[in-house]
Amino acid sequence: MQANLAIFNELSALLPGRVRSAEPMKKHTTWRIGGPADIFVEPINRQEIYTIVNYSRDRGVPLFVIGAGSNLLISDSGIRGIVVKISSGLDRLSIVDNEIKVEAGARLAQVLAAARDAGLGGFEFLAGIPGNIGGAVFMNAGSNGSSVSELVKKVLILNLDGNYECISNEEMRFGYRTSILQFDPAIVVEVIFTSYPRDKEQIKQEMAIFLARRKASQPLAYPNAGSVFKNPPGDSAGRLIEAAGLKGLRVGDAQISPLHANFIINLGSATARDVLGLIDQVKETINRRFGVKLQPEVKFAGQE
Ligand SMILES: Cc1cc2nc3c(=O)[nH]c(=O)nc-3n(C[C@H](O)[C@H](O)[C@H](O)COP(=O)(O)OP(=O)(O)OC[C@H]3O[C@@H](n4cnc5c(N)ncnc54)[C@H](O)[C@@H]3O)c2cc1C
Repeated sequence: MQANLAIFNELSALLPGRVRSAEPMKKHTTWRIGGPADIFVEPINRQEIYTIVNYSRDRGVPLFVIGAGSNLLISDSGIRGIVVKISSGLDRLSIVDNEIKVEAGARLAQVLAAARDAGLGGFEFLAGIPGNIGGAVFMNAGSNGSSVSELVKKVLILNLDGNYECISNEEMRFGYRTSILQFDPAIVVEVIFTSYPRDKEQIKQEMAIFLARRKASQPLAYPNAGSVFKNPPGDSAGRLIEAAGLKGLRVGDAQISPLHANFIINLGSATARDVLGLIDQVKETINRRFGVKLQPEVKFAGQE
């Protein structure tokens, strides 16, 4: 408590009016779940990110970065140390020829709209995926057999020692819902995407098809975090969970969606403990019934 007050005061002196304490993380996740972050900052420029990273390194205070919180389960007791949210304060975007340069806090939807308006194709399959650019690159977000990695040229990161690095696509070591950043943490600051000229109407139509499919198949009326489990090789997690008869299973206010078996929905006041209880039951059942060890796609953060 005393230590948090000192961190709050010191960081507030460096970033006046921008630091919050005991911020409820449920306000920053699409699941609407998560206890308080000791210290919470949403920077509005690169200098502020730099200041936070250097402060955290010098004082040995842990730092956790979030984007739109659309792939995150944050524990009920919250996150100790500093949470930095890379969001709308850092969303500048520019287009030169076939390249889109965008800051990590921009929403995926913003980039898709800019690409469509400029007649640049390749982003269509991402239509309807919530989340910010930093989170999309960290996760290598994707759909329909394609992923962000196919569009990334370079990624500007600030590592936790306070140094900027420009990383190539190869160096990002993208894989199925993974990147080097999941093993070597750093903050994504800016991304350069490569694209190609395409007819605007065709782009619009293809995006509308992807959006309509999502609306029909996903439980978007309830707070959720998209697919909870990765698809095992050659199969689909949703198919296995449905085949095991687990649709509709509930722990507290967390429920396996009756519409899409790989989604867990928050019926109102679900806790992280409820969701974890459900995740454990699904993993155990699928392993017992089909001999498949499901791996979570969602990321976990915070103290037990
Ligand atoms: C309705 C719904 C549908 C979805 N559909 C899909 C889908 O089809 N395909 C898919 O891939 N995902 C899907 N998702 C999951 C989610 O939208 C993606 O994983 C998204 O890319 C996460 O971005 P975010 O900004 O919300 O990241 P967050 O959830 O905030 O964070 C996710 C991880 O990224 C890290 N991170 C975030 N920002 C940064 C940064 N700037 N620098 C470094 N690390 C960072 C965090 O530490 C965390 O570990 C869906 C989610 C929902 C709610």
